[in-house]
Amino acid sequence: MSEAKTINNAVCTFCGCVCDDIELVVSPDGKSITRAGNACELGRAWFLEHKIEDYPVALVDGKEASVEEAVDAAARILVEAKFPAVYGLSDTTCEAQKEAVAIADFVNGNIDTTTSVCHGPSGMAFQGTGESTASLGEIKNRADFIMYWGGNPVEAHPRHFERYSAKAKAAYLPNGRADRTIVMVDVRKTRSASEADIFLQVKPGSDFEVLWALRALVRGKYVDDSIEERTGIALETLQDLVERMKNCNFGVIFFGMGLSMTRGRHFNVSALLALATDLNAFTHFVANPVRGHGNVTGADNVVSWQTGYPFGVNFNRGYPRFNPGEFTTVDVLARGDADALLVIASDPAANFPRRAIEHLKSIPVITLDPKPTRTSQVAKVAFTVAAYGINVPGTVYRMDNVALPLRPAFESPYPCDEEILRAIKERVCELKGIGRRHVA
Ligand code: SF4
Repeated sequence: MSEAKTINNAVCTFCGCVCDDIELVVSPDGKSITRAGNACELGRAWFLEHKIEDYPVALVDGKEASVEEAVDAAARILVEAKFPAVYGLSDTTCEAQKEAVAIADFVNGNIDTTTSVCHGPSGMAFQGTGESTASLGEIKNRADFIMYWGGNPVEAHPRHFERYSAKAKAAYLPNGRADRTIVMVDVRKTRSASEADIFLQVKPGSDFEVLWALRALVRGKYVDDSIEERTGIALETLQDLVERMKNCNFGVIFFGMGLSMTRGRHFNVSALLALATDLNAFTHFVANPVRGHGNVTGADNVVSWQTGYPFGVNFNRGYPRFNPGEFTTVDVLARGDADALLVIASDPAANFPRRAIEHLKSIPVITLDPKPTRTSQVAKVAFTVAAYGINVPGTVYRMDNVALPLRPAFESPYPCDEEILRAIKERVCELKGIGRRHVA
C-alpha cells in the first residue's frame, strides 16, 4: 500500500498573498490533501476541499463530448463571432494567460481580466501617477509605519499581518508588532481595525478629500478645520498622522478595493500614490495594492507584456487598444457588443451586473473551470480542468509582482487550462488559415 506523500514549501493560490511555505500531506491514494500545514483557514479550505470529482471532461450543448470535439466547437464559436471576448484569468497560471491573450489576438477580439472589477482603477492610476513600491520581503524587514487604506486583511488575507507586515519579526524589526505603528483607514470598524494603533473612520466617499488634506499637510499648506465636517477626521488627527509618517524610517500604505472601487476610484488611488511620493522628501515611503485572487497580478503582467496594457484591451482593429469603460467585459456585455465569450477561471454569471448577465446568457459562452459554476451552467462549451497549484505546475505572481513557481500536490485526470487554450488557439489558426510559424 502506498504511503502519504509530503510536499514542502507548496504555494497557496487562494489569495494574493501566495504563501509559499505550505506543508501539504497527500492521501495514500493520491487523490486528495489531508493536511495543509501553515495555511490559514481560507487556504486550508482551498487545499482540503479539492478532490478529484467525476465531472465530464467537456460538455457541448449540455452533452458529454471529447476534448477534441469541444476544442473544435469552441474555436468555431470564436472564429465565427464578430466581437469575441475573453475574460477571467486571475486564477490560472501565467502560461495559460499567455495562450488566452494569443487567442484574443488571432480572433481580433477583446481581452480583459478580473482586474477590471477590482484594481482596474489602480492600474490607471499607476499609468498616470507612477508608483513608489517595494517587495513584501523588503516591507517585512524594514517597514516601521504600516497603513492599510480600504482593506480588511484579517479576514480577506489572513496571513498578510503575520508574513509580511504588522506582526512579522524581521531583520531590522526583531520585536515584530511592538516595533511598528499600524494605522487603519476605513469607512467601518472591521476586525483589522481592532488590531490597529490608530483607526481613522472616514465618511463614505470622502477618501479623496482625506488624502488631499494629508498631501497638503505634508507640504506645509493650510488645511481648514472644516475638513472634519466633510470627512469625519479632525484636523489635529491628520496633523498627528502626518508627523508620524514623516518621522518613520520606512513607511508603507497598503490599499484595497475600499479605495479603488469607491467614489473617486482612480483619482483616489492617484492621490494615495502621490502622497507616498510626497513623503519621500522626508523618509522612505512606498504604496502597494493588496490583491485578491492568487494570480491576478500575473494576469496584469502577462496581458501587459503581450499587449502593452494590463486589462480592458481590444484587438478589433488588428492592434491592441486600451480603454477601460469601453473594452472592460462588464461594459462590452452590458452594451450588447460581445457576441461570444471565453471565460477562464471566473464566474461572471454569478457576480456581474444584471444587464451584463442577461446578455451573457444570450450569446455562446465557453468556460474552463475545475468545478461547475453559474457561468458553466449556461455555457455552450464547458471544459473541466485541473486546479492550478494543486494539480498543475506553472508560474504565478504574488501581489508585489514577485514570480513564484507552483509545486502541485497530485495529478489530475483533467487537462490544464494551458493545454486546452493552446489547443483552441491552434484550431483557431487552422480555421483561419494562419500558418504555424505565427502560432507558437
Ligand atoms: S493568506 Fe492567502 S495565500 Fe496565504 S494561506 Fe491564507 S489563503 Fe492561502
